[in-house]
Amino acid sequence: MNENGLHLSTLSALADNYIWLLADRTGAAIVVDPGEAGPVRAELARIGLRLTAILLTHHHADHIGGVEELAKTTGARIYAPRDERIAVADVRVADGDMLRLESPDICFEVLELPGHTRSHVAYFGAGLLFCGDTLFSAGCGRLFEGTPAQMLASLDRLAALPGETQVCCAHEYTLSNCAFARTIEPGNAALAARTTQVQALREHGAATLPVTLADERTYNPFLRVDSAEVIAHLDRSGNDRAARFAELRRRKDEFRMPVS
Ligand SMILES: [Zn+2]
Repeated sequence: MNENGLHLSTLSALADNYIWLLADRTGAAIVVDPGEAGPVRAELARIGLRLTAILLTHHHADHIGGVEELAKTTGARIYAPRDERIAVADVRVADGDMLRLESPDICFEVLELPGHTRSHVAYFGAGLLFCGDTLFSAGCGRLFEGTPAQMLASLDRLAALPGETQVCCAHEYTLSNCAFARTIEPGNAALAARTTQVQALREHGAATLPVTLADERTYNPFLRVDSAEVIAHLDRSGNDRAARFAELRRRKDEFRMPVS
């Protein structure tokens, strides 16, 4: 329970997705990106919650697969970006919208973040950022439908949010992201510390999220394209930060986690 009287839960789904569930003291709850209904239904039943809203960040199946069943069985309202690939929505959201939900009583700002997909959005409110597949801990999403410059602009917007923001990403990729980041910034002490912490958490099957934005700024290479060590490491990309970002993302696409 945080200072807003809200309780945040991390529900594991599919292979490595997280569905975020936020509930208030009255038992009203929302979920973000339910890729399947089962884990949400189980949690609602376990604690006796009633689902009032479903927030979607983008159209990929591992984020929307459980939506229709949950909406049908609970009556929850569906909030989604404008994209015909998300067939069912009660409210279409766009950049700058302020979503005022009544129960739980939260206001979310909508940020449009093209890059991973062209219509990807994030929801920011109550000190929480639900950023789907745009920002991951120590990493960022793949560029399926956007350019490196678009994704960099999207990440710049997220990086400008308050440092205490709790970043709620949609996948548990942190361990492999840290391994890649260490190939870029081997001398980064904050990255070494995060890697040790993440290894310990994963040994116990625990989530490495949420994580504060202030922490991410210290070791996430995709938020650090202007840092001296990243620039030095990507010196062939010159002074163009979008080119540096593109080169970082290209290397990550090719990176394979070492087998230990
Ligand atoms: Zn996705």
